[in-house]
Amino acid sequence: MAKHASFDALTTETLALRLGGLEALVERLGPDRSAWKVREVGDGNLNLVFIVEGPKGAAVVKQALPYVRLVGESWPLPLKRSFFEYHALVRQEARAGKGSVPAIYHFDEAQALIVMEYLSPHVILRKALIEGRELPRIANDLGLFAARTLFRGSDLHMTARERKADLALFAGNVELCDITENLVFTDPYFEAELNRHTPALDPLVAELRADRDLKVEAQRLKHLFAANAETLLHGDLHTGSIMVTEDDTRVIDPEFAFYGPMAFDVGMLLANFWMSFFSQAGHEQEGSRASMRGYLLRTVSDLWSVFRAEFSWLWRTERTGMLYADSLFEKRGDALGAEQALDGVLHSLWQDLLGFAGVEIHRRILGLAHNADFETIADEALRARCEAKALRFGRHLVVNRCRIHSVDEVNGLALLIEKETRA
Ligand code: ADP
Ligand code: MG
Repeated sequence: MAKHASFDALTTETLALRLGGLEALVERLGPDRSAWKVREVGDGNLNLVFIVEGPKGAAVVKQALPYVRLVGESWPLPLKRSFFEYHALVRQEARAGKGSVPAIYHFDEAQALIVMEYLSPHVILRKALIEGRELPRIANDLGLFAARTLFRGSDLHMTARERKADLALFAGNVELCDITENLVFTDPYFEAELNRHTPALDPLVAELRADRDLKVEAQRLKHLFAANAETLLHGDLHTGSIMVTEDDTRVIDPEFAFYGPMAFDVGMLLANFWMSFFSQAGHEQEGSRASMRGYLLRTVSDLWSVFRAEFSWLWRTERTGMLYADSLFEKRGDALGAEQALDGVLHSLWQDLLGFAGVEIHRRILGLAHNADFETIADEALRARCEAKALRFGRHLVVNRCRIHSVDEVNGLALLIEKETRA
């Protein structure tokens, strides 16, 4: 194939032929491409994901398609998202450390493909949580990942020139941002065409869509999301974008990366643990999930403390950007001033993340993209009960986020809602 050939989607049949000469693959799999075994495993909504195994080892080839895979060619989506995914992965590895994302071996912009490390025996975190597995490392690993990527991609750390260059680079990811802007912040709150929900939820859904306070707050959050280009976000940091083993945690799939508010990634992540919490009642056929429920709330609370501690540490040791310059604080003997500013930043981050968590919960139950935590509950009445609890919890977060002080309070609320509706 010519080096700059126009885009052509790979298939399991053509992959070895087309990429057989690629150094990045040959090095890992071995040179005899006729011995390569290729399978397509993409269970995502958008792209092709191939696992290629050879005599020496394996790799993953992820290729974007010029449309949304879930919907088909009627919904075009630019191949350029692969470019943003590649550049985001490179930055995340530099900021959060090697081993926080899959190692990247090769990127081909024209073919919109990324060759990366095959994570094995890793599984998608969402799947593990549905199975009731209590993974011991995720709170710590994900708290560090979020604090490091969000802090180090912002004006708190980068030079103004570098940060503005990155802001410009990622500003091109318009179509994927547009998906978030509509599917997360707007569609769930009216009868948009692509929405769906469990039918038994009808009365509650009508109530939420008529809830003026909720709609206004959801739009304020959208405003914040669109207008506050604070740091490079992962942009889709849910439990389906994380692969785990007992002792390793990797974040994948940052194709939604762009500059937005820090609280968005953290809020989406915590929302997915809270949704897992409310879905557990639907997965108790083989035994009680009481312990799992406790584990999930502990994970939220630990993740938030690890995040805060790491963010504070970076604030004190790596605040080299233009914001809150040490020339105003530490260098004038006013370390306390820097601490006061840090408290302010963490406080608004906390309030905003609660709001983002609430809308994430709503869109996963009312919008287009649902999640397996609830979808795999076959008993529809039971599923609706789980979803209703999550919806009411999400509404409380969105509307009352400025009046909620601590993560213990939020977890207490989750327990209360869970108990009330069980009785
Ligand atoms: P999409 O952008 O289409 O959602 P993802 O990047 O989420 O695609 O990948 C889809 C699936 O492919 C993941 O859920 C996971 O099962 C598998 N996968 C993706 N990347 C890797 C990897 N590096 N190693 C192993 N499996 C992977
Ligand atoms: Mg994706």
